[in-house]
Amino acid sequence: MNPPSGGIDPASFAPRLVAWQRACGRHDLPWQRSRDPYRVWVSEIMLQQTRVDTVLRYFEPFVRRFPGVRELAAADLDQVLAQWSGLGYYRRARNLHAGARQVCEIHGGELPRSRAELETIRGIGRSTAAAIAVFCFDRPEAILDANVQRVLGRAFGLPRPATAAARRDMWRLAEQLLPRQDLAAYTQGLMDLGATVCKPAQPECLVCPFAADCPRELAPPAASPARRRAPRRSLTRVLLWARSGPAQAPRIWLQRRAGHGIWPGLWCLPEHDDQAGALALAGELGELLRQRELPAVVHQLTHLELRLHPLQVVLRPRHRVTDGALDGGWFALDEALRLGLPAPVRKLLTAARAAGD
Ligand code: SF4
Repeated sequence: MNPPSGGIDPASFAPRLVAWQRACGRHDLPWQRSRDPYRVWVSEIMLQQTRVDTVLRYFEPFVRRFPGVRELAAADLDQVLAQWSGLGYYRRARNLHAGARQVCEIHGGELPRSRAELETIRGIGRSTAAAIAVFCFDRPEAILDANVQRVLGRAFGLPRPATAAARRDMWRLAEQLLPRQDLAAYTQGLMDLGATVCKPAQPECLVCPFAADCPRELAPPAASPARRRAPRRSLTRVLLWARSGPAQAPRIWLQRRAGHGIWPGLWCLPEHDDQAGALALAGELGELLRQRELPAVVHQLTHLELRLHPLQVVLRPRHRVTDGALDGGWFALDEALRLGLPAPVRKLLTAARAAGD
């Protein structure tokens, strides 16, 4: 692709970005403290569709729990999902786990060094593979995630690439812009600029190194994807919160969700269209002793607002319902909180434990 004439000189793009990154970029993120490809891989996967300040709360506990590829590969998927719990987009955790097993089986537990080989690992796309290859192995590879597409699009006056051909063109531009040296600072600079300055809704052009000649210096917020996003749907569900056992040591019934849809593979309070469905399941689990409705919880997903109405029931369990039946099991609260749980369910159960409920 020939970068458009006028606007930013492509030859000056990398040196200006590198100088800006050194002076104003991010230098103290925990995954920047080493060139360990495993840590970079985990961070890159966590950062997909997730803000840095959120990832900061999850990264260190995750790598403490699974310090390397082998430990991650040896873990049960449940343990991985439990550690990922609350970070969302759980397919990433499943892929990371499957990818770690692949690295152990095929590459002896060491991540390969080339971008092409990295791309064969489950869950690693071209841009993530390029980031690992640059940061850990000094390979001259271009990244082009959504943030970088936005930065290059604005800086060079290009439309958002909507077709495969347009995406190929943008990859070509990203490759043409690569400097011969300072690759890591350049790549980090693209990430930092996209995340902290050239933001989707309100780019902070006044503090951008390209403010003087960027064709989108005055990019109007009206063009933000947030404005164009389809309205969020709202969905109401009843959560069956079935309890059994003594009041001071209750057990709760959780079911494992299917491997697709929202919260794939996580453990959840069973959800139903209405109270009748929830009570029908309660009837299968045991004899109903008491029931009460708890205040609704609203949980926002990207395109969906979930209104969850917990229905707490106290049951005398039926002996024929054993763990494993109905894809579920009875768990003590502490056991339940060690499982992979959707964020709103974890919040409910954590509050119940704090209240001694
Ligand atoms: S000047 Fe503004 S629109 Fe252009 S790259 Fe910088 S922040 Fe983005």
